Amino acid sequence: MSANDEHLVIVGNGMAGHRLLERVLAHPHRPRHITILGDEPETAYNRILLSPWLAGEMDRSALTLRERDWYTAQGVTLIAGERATAIDRRCRTLTTDQGRRLAYDRLVLATGSRAARPSVTGSDLDGIHAFRDLEDGERLASLADAGGRAVVIGGGLLGLEAAEGMRKRGMTVSVVHRATHLMNRQLDATAAGMLAAELRARGLEIHTGADLAAYAPNADGQRATGVVLSDGTTLAADCVVAAIGIVPNTSLAERAGLTTARGIQVDAFMTTSDPHISALGECCEFEGTTYGLIEPIWRQVEVLAARLCGDTPEPYRERPCATKLKVSGISLYAFGPITPAPEHDVLTYHDPQHGDYRRLLLRDGRLEGAVLYGDTAAGPWYFQCALAGHDLSAGRQALLFGEHDAQPLLDTPDTLSEEAA
Ligand SMILES: Cc1cc2nc3c(=O)[nH]c(=O)nc-3n(C[C@H](O)[C@H](O)[C@H](O)COP(=O)(O)OP(=O)(O)OC[C@H]3O[C@@H](n4cnc5c(N)ncnc54)[C@H](O)[C@@H]3O)c2cc1C
Repeated sequence: MSANDEHLVIVGNGMAGHRLLERVLAHPHRPRHITILGDEPETAYNRILLSPWLAGEMDRSALTLRERDWYTAQGVTLIAGERATAIDRRCRTLTTDQGRRLAYDRLVLATGSRAARPSVTGSDLDGIHAFRDLEDGERLASLADAGGRAVVIGGGLLGLEAAEGMRKRGMTVSVVHRATHLMNRQLDATAAGMLAAELRARGLEIHTGADLAAYAPNADGQRATGVVLSDGTTLAADCVVAAIGIVPNTSLAERAGLTTARGIQVDAFMTTSDPHISALGECCEFEGTTYGLIEPIWRQVEVLAARLCGDTPEPYRERPCATKLKVSGISLYAFGPITPAPEHDVLTYHDPQHGDYRRLLLRDGRLEGAVLYGDTAAGPWYFQCALAGHDLSAGRQALLFGEHDAQPLLDTPDTLSEEAA
């Protein structure tokens, strides 16, 4: 059988599943029969834009990636609102929660992840929400439109985007964050302090170094009416959002006997322990790494799409990722290690009046990490410099001022600027 005649079934019509579908369809040797199955009722949408949508910065329609007609026109069978519940690997069939049975030649698991829930007293109460999908977003938007108080647990990227979105819709929002500064995985204390000051000035209440001890129940013990911190502080809330992290959706793979650890284990071609089944995106694990940002997932898509269409792609490799925050009016950009090692050369520029901060970590003249707050224009160029691994020593004194000042001093190709653009 040539690759063309195979039936490709993709489970999960989220960001990874949809992008994979687009890439496979663009290939001249696409499998003729393709089915994409997702348990969300909508066609694929841009999950990343849920944050600006919650903040009222865009219309719901801008989130949709493709309408139903498109799938039909492409000869793709779309099954929406149905959940894959079992895989029979011997017979190569998939079963759904509606009793449907699908035969496959190649199966791709793109089941993503779900929000982690803090395991404290009261975690089974009603009124504790996640911010993961459109349904969550719509629920949070309508709660926020009604006003009142919200508590968001988690001061990482997602928690801050949820908090700002709900504040902009009219709620009084408190953020509870366990670490001593916000976004502690991406920012150093100075940049995080600038971020916290800006968010406080907008009206968010921020509690850092604050440990969640329990959810506070209402009189009949059914609903959360706030949170209790380990120092005894109680924060009342009409709505609690837990944004402490994500857990890969592996249960379908586990039940089918595929090898899983934190995620579904894959090799550098995204193949699971069964050669007929691949996995990618937030549900997979490669060499001990699981995923929460889109950039590596896009690279996984390229590898797997090529493979499914009979090409021999370069294997997938890990590489650093850069972080941005999608809160309008706040600009930050970061990559690499946060805590400097003793051998790091640390370059810092801080202009508190203009709200600008830049910190670069160099090892033997090579850039390994950057934290930028305020003017982040040079961020992508720094990132390209770090990926290229060039020795930047010759431009050291101008590095903090970005590519226009530093590039002429460097003995590196100008293509870095083009790649960063
Ligand atoms: C609000 C928000 C903002 C974000 N912002 C950014 C950002 O700015 N930058 C960035 O890099 N990343 C961001 N992310 C993360 C990014 O969205 C994810 O990395 C990406 O969506 C992962 O893609 P995925 O396809 O693996 O998972 P998902 O997009 O979650 O898709 C998985 C799909 O599979 C479905 N599914 C699961 N199990 C089954 C089953 N058994 N049967 C059928 N269907 C199933 C799920 O319902 C879901 O639709 C954000 C995430 C959120 C929630």
